This record gives sequence, structure tokens and C-alpha cells, in this order.
Amino acid sequence: MGIERDLIAAIATPAGTGGIGIIRISGLGARELGEKLGNKNLEHRKAQYCEFRNDRDVIDQGIVLFFEGPNSFTGEDVVELHGHGGPVVMNNLLQAVCSEGARVARPGEFSERAFLNDKMDLAQAEAIADLISSASVKAAKAAIKTISGKFSKEVHRITKAINHLRVFVEANLDFPDEEIELLDFKELKESIRKLRLEIESLLDKSHQGLMITNGITVALIGAPNVGKSSLFNALAEQEEAIVTDVPGTTRDVLKTSLTISGLPLLLIDTAGLRESESQVELLGIEKARLVAQEADLVLEVRDLSDGEIDISDETENQEERKLVIYNKSDLLKENPNKSLKHKIIVSALTGAGIDSLRHAILDKVGFKNDEISFTARARHIESMGLAIDVLLKTENNINNMNNLELIAEGLRQAQEELGEILGVVSADELLGKIFAEFCIGK
Ligand code: GDP
Repeated sequence: MGIERDLIAAIATPAGTGGIGIIRISGLGARELGEKLGNKNLEHRKAQYCEFRNDRDVIDQGIVLFFEGPNSFTGEDVVELHGHGGPVVMNNLLQAVCSEGARVARPGEFSERAFLNDKMDLAQAEAIADLISSASVKAAKAAIKTISGKFSKEVHRITKAINHLRVFVEANLDFPDEEIELLDFKELKESIRKLRLEIESLLDKSHQGLMITNGITVALIGAPNVGKSSLFNALAEQEEAIVTDVPGTTRDVLKTSLTISGLPLLLIDTAGLRESESQVELLGIEKARLVAQEADLVLEVRDLSDGEIDISDETENQEERKLVIYNKSDLLKENPNKSLKHKIIVSALTGAGIDSLRHAILDKVGFKNDEISFTARARHIESMGLAIDVLLKTENNINNMNNLELIAEGLRQAQEELGEILGVVSADELLGKIFAEFCIGK
């Protein structure tokens, strides 16, 4: 992707009305454009009050702010026009800016330029989008850590160490007869193993980071009338689903967003998964099946008062993506006895057991409720996984045949995978995809 430096502009504040609205301009000629529109001489980082004019009229009054490249967000000359935050004023201003030669920026184009001008790496740029869309305080904190480079530094450090080993192996490959440090295969294998373990630990943290960025979807399934909607409400702590005594009322899929210990959760209530004559209900059932298939976790609700509990079954919660929940514990004459310890028993009506259910959900999806160190993306996790695979193969190669070429190639591949995370070797197509997810003006 070649670096474009043409003048781009966008309204950087959200649509609608607000005290202040900001137009952001970046690229060659930004300074001249700002000086013309505001009729001021611009100085780096100095805010000046002015009238914004087009050819004929005063459009607005406000502040013009200038950042001289490379000391700006994008690394180019950047001008911000802070006017009044109304849609008409902002559009007038943007039009005036465009009639002076700027074009409207694509979503994420400012961040893309910051990346292309080496102001940040790809993981940091992605974290900006994550920060903007973060759904919990924890997610926002984690995104800030990635932006500040905590994650990138780790990736960079490991990549450098792999490169170091690779140079060493390739030197032995290219100059086998020279007097270079003799290769100790055992030591080499141990070094690769250590690096692999470091990537594994980073991968584990990244899983947490990904969960906190994307959240998880949890689907409630079960026969009609077992209390799915009531449980949905109890978890969401709001009266959103319609709760009735008539089986099959929850005909469509209901969703609500909530957080458990900072983990964003999309909770989905489905219609009863059962055979039905009614057309509407059949559609609902089909949809519920699809939802359950795609969810990260399925909560299968059963009615405890139906006597449907199998005390001896200790395996029901061992399935990877499913928890079995027994509801209506308040209807039991006695407290659930100790032999039911491994079961999840709740009462959506009284709220008993709901907190334990929340913990069970976090446990099941592997969310560690400690300080999340950074956010990550699915593509980072994929790259780390591939790097781990290839290093593992390389370790085995050392066992089997000590083939230097294969070892060097393995190290090269691992290095390339990690490089992709930071955007060192990213293809145009990937970059296009990543930045297209951003909002306009960022
Ligand atoms: P769904 O069809 O699975 O969504 O079930 P609902 O949430 O609509 O509940 C069906 C009926 O069971 C309603 O009358 C609820 O009040 C009742 N119910 C739900 N949860 C409980 C509970 O924990 N205890 C008792 N006693 N009744 C409940």
C-alpha cells in the first residue's frame, strides 16, 4: 500500500448535535487550507479563535488547531476545526474544506496513515478501534494498554529473539567451514522451546484480551416453561423478556447486553426447542437452533420441579460449550442436598444461585477475572497459534535429523507470523480490511 498524502477531511465528532463539532484535516496542504479558512497564520499546537469562512460567508466561529507533521496523529500536517456541533454547520464546514481541495476520508483513513507513517504499529491501530467500541470499563482499560504498546513490545521482543536464533542458524548453514560458534543442537532446541512457551503465555493473555474486546454470546435453551425468560431477566436484572404461564410465548429471539465482571455478554433467549405444529413457533425454533449453534456458550435450562434431575450424572457440565442449569429451586421442599453439589441450581424467581451461575459462566468460558493486560484480535491469536505450531515442528526436527535448512525455515516462518501481528509484512488486502472497520474521522 503506497503512502497517499493527498488532503483528507472528515467530521470527527459523532452525528447529531453537541456543544462542539470537529472537522479533522490531514495531508499535504492542510496548513494552507486551515490558514485560508480561518484567516490566521497557524503555529504548531497553538489553538486560535477565528471565523471560518467559505468564498462568500462566515459559516461558523470556533478554534483552529494545527499540528505540524511528523508531530501529529497521522504524522502529516493536521488541522482541526472546532466549530459548533450541529449537523448543518458541520456539513457546511466540511463542504468548504472539500471545495478547497480536500476529499472526504474513508473510515479509518487517519489511523491508516498513522500506521503507514510509522506513528504506530498495526496492533496499536486496531486497539484504537477497540477502545472506541469498548463495551466495558475493563475493555477500555485493556485497549489503552495495547495502544500504549504493551502487547506490541512483547511481540516485538519475541520476534527479535527468534530472528537472533535464525541468524545464528543461517550463519552455520552458509559458512559451515568457518570458525563460527559451533552449533549446540540441544541448546538451540531449548532456546526455541523457551520462545515457544513465551508465545503460549502471550497467547493465553491474548485470549483473555480477545474475550474482553469482543465479548461472548450466551444462548438460553430448554423446553417451554422451564423458566428461560425468567432466567434471562434475572441475569439481565431487567424486565425485558415476556414471562407468561403459556408454553411457547417466547416466539422470537430476544437479546440483551450485559457485563459480568467486566466481560461483555450478549445474552440470547430462544423459543423452546421442541417440535411444534404452529408455523410461527416452528420458525422461532429453527432460529433458536441456529443461535445455539453459533453461541460461545449454551445454557440449557431444566425445570428442577419436574424431577428431571439425574443425581449421578456428573458429566453433564463437561461439554465444552454447554452448562445445564436447574431452575425453580424454590419449589423444592427441602434444600438441594449435598449430592447435588456439582449441579448448577438456581431460582430465577428468588434470585437464589444466580451469582454462582454468573461465576460458573466465567469459569466455563475460561475468563480469568484478574487484571486484563491488553486487548487482542482474532488474527493475532491465529498468527501466534501458527508460530507455536511451526516452532514445535522445528523442535521435533532437531530431535530427528538436525536439518539446518528446515530449522532456519521454521524460524523464518515463525518470525513472519509474529511480524504480521504488528503489520511488518501485512498485505494490502489485510490492511484494507482492518481499517475499513474504523469509524469515519479516525
Ligand atoms: P420459558 O418458557 O422457559 O421462557 O419460561 P418462563 O420464564 O416464561 O417461565 C414459565 C413459568 O415458570 C412462569 O410462570 C414463571 O413465573 C415460572 N418460573 C420461572 N422461573 C421460576 C422459578 O425459579 N421458580 C418458580 N417457582 N417459578 C418460576
